[in-house]
Amino acid sequence: MKYYLGLDIGGTNIKSGVLSATHKLVYKNSFRTRSADGEQAIIDDIISECARIFGMYKIECIGVGCPGDKDDANVSIVTAGNLPFYNLPIVDILQKRFGVEVYLENDGSCALIADWHAGAGKGCTDMVEITVGTGIGGGCVVNGDLMRGVTNDAGELGHFVIDPRGEKCPCGQKGCFERFASATALIKMTRKAAESDPGSVLARECANGVDGRTVFNAYAKGCPVAKRVLRRFAKNLATGINGLDFIFAPQYISLAGGIMNQGDVVLKFLRPYLLHPQKVGVTTLHGDAGVIGAALLWKFKKYYLSLR
Ligand SMILES: [Zn+2]
Repeated sequence: MKYYLGLDIGGTNIKSGVLSATHKLVYKNSFRTRSADGEQAIIDDIISECARIFGMYKIECIGVGCPGDKDDANVSIVTAGNLPFYNLPIVDILQKRFGVEVYLENDGSCALIADWHAGAGKGCTDMVEITVGTGIGGGCVVNGDLMRGVTNDAGELGHFVIDPRGEKCPCGQKGCFERFASATALIKMTRKAAESDPGSVLARECANGVDGRTVFNAYAKGCPVAKRVLRRFAKNLATGINGLDFIFAPQYISLAGGIMNQGDVVLKFLRPYLLHPQKVGVTTLHGDAGVIGAALLWKFKKYYLSLR
């Protein structure tokens, strides 16, 4: 039996997983990213986890998913959000240590590949994946192939502008989709609503700190202020989804990322604003999409090797 190792490197946790040839996740693990201890500490942790997995399974190759920017050859992580990586030659490091092929891709594309091959997007010739997290990422399948662009990083779905008068984005534009519909945007909206309505259940929920779940917790307790926040957030998210629907005319639009752990509630609020609600679904792979997609990168091996 052949097995494929996937790594999903995130700012908070690193997830590892082993996928069988029939796309079954036979092993998974998660450990804290020791960002404060620097690059070498994180690499040491990754290597010891991989060594443990190599001791248990006959691994064919390794796939790595990571946020941020990779180089054009897909072998080094140039920068990676809040991770302390600068031009890290991760492919070379793992290849030398374990003697198998290693493939690197950004986390949004890994989520897309997972849903396309092992999730609800299976069999689609055209689909869009939207990952709603700290920012908005994802990717697109067009005519049965991954859309790459000439710079090999197409699919930055969070950075098309939905309001040019909106707030500034680190990408240099104003009013990008992710400024309105990411988890970061939802947290901002939650805080603002709680401040202007200090007697609300939402404000009470916010007293112990605010994250992407806070507004959902208050909504579950029947808070009308939380309901208003979710309605506004859904309208923003739907604006972007509808724009992408017009551009790509996909069979399926998959929503992933941390916020989608509340998928049923998000869909309930989204549906009235969607052009084609029947096309839009929440990933069935949830927290595993990143590792599954990374473990499937070998399917595009010809492409990755051609870049080197
Ligand atoms: Zn932007």
